Amino acid sequence: MKLKELGEFGLIDRIARQVHNSPAVVLGIGDDAAALLPTPGTLTLITSDMLLEGVHFDLSFCDPQSLGRKSLSVNLSDLAAMGARPRQFLLSIALPKTLSLEFVDGFLAGIMEQAERFGVTLVGGDTCASLGGLAISITALGEQIPERVAKRSGAAPGDLVCLTGTVGDAAAGLNELRRGVRQGFLVARQLDPQPRVAAGVALAEAGLVSAMIDVSDGVLGDLTHICELSGVGARLDLSALPLSDEYREACSADPYALALSGGEDYELLFCIGKEKGPEVEALLKTLSLRFSVIGQIVEGETVQLVAPGGGAYQSEQRGFDHFG
Ligand code: ADP
Ligand code: MG
Repeated sequence: MKLKELGEFGLIDRIARQVHNSPAVVLGIGDDAAALLPTPGTLTLITSDMLLEGVHFDLSFCDPQSLGRKSLSVNLSDLAAMGARPRQFLLSIALPKTLSLEFVDGFLAGIMEQAERFGVTLVGGDTCASLGGLAISITALGEQIPERVAKRSGAAPGDLVCLTGTVGDAAAGLNELRRGVRQGFLVARQLDPQPRVAAGVALAEAGLVSAMIDVSDGVLGDLTHICELSGVGARLDLSALPLSDEYREACSADPYALALSGGEDYELLFCIGKEKGPEVEALLKTLSLRFSVIGQIVEGETVQLVAPGGGAYQSEQRGFDHFG
């Protein structure tokens, strides 16, 4: 069958049949708006991310399942960075009429797989034909009690700057895809990032973080966002950046450029009081996540980069900017 034969409402029906409703969803797909029952005492955290063909992904090298998973993952990552427990999401899609139903089904399967993994329910969206490329917009909702929401704005001088996982992999993976490589660790980090939901929620709920953000634009750009909103500066120790073996091998000529400015790793960058290191390390260990201290918050308003020898490091790039 083709998309044209299925039609808009046939497609919505196909999507709706894959949804398992949850008790918090009073009205899901089908009415003019969804109706949700919030957990008493919680704030709703809401975030939206758009993925555009040609800007965020290239259909010549992403398979539909990974694209589906990633579309949801990038939104879950934003909720994780707030310490929010993910609950529901809306899916708006503009599909070129020529897109195969097989692709659409694969994409939906990827979304539903990730939704199941993270316990989020699809509650609505919008479906249109696109005269240009494929466009995907997801809005995700999460919850957290007000005292435990992790903002970008709480970092204070003396705090340690920390990271989950490794950085630079996704950007190195994109370079590999452009060179024709289609698999491996770096490629998977680009096409199929895993949002650090459990870590973000656990760190926030344990009251361990003073500020948190997810690494979507690159460590340097995202740390700069924390500094701006917190009214502080930071010292970032390049020798402490957590790099995977695969990344080191692929980027041996300049190991710092992509680790600092390559985005899309979707790790968590967060600040903690300077005595909290061991506690945070132990917590992340229970989630099998690597923990690194990469620098310290200082007074001022600049992010100073310290090269491995101890001198200043000049970075050419900043974080990703769509209009930059
Ligand atoms: P309206 O014309 O009132 O906007 P639609 O026909 O667009 O309604 O949507 C009908 C129902 O299907 C709504 O509940 C809407 O949220 C849902 N829906 C539409 N597109 C999607 C989608 N891509 N994913 C999930 N739900 C969708
Ligand atoms: Mg609509």
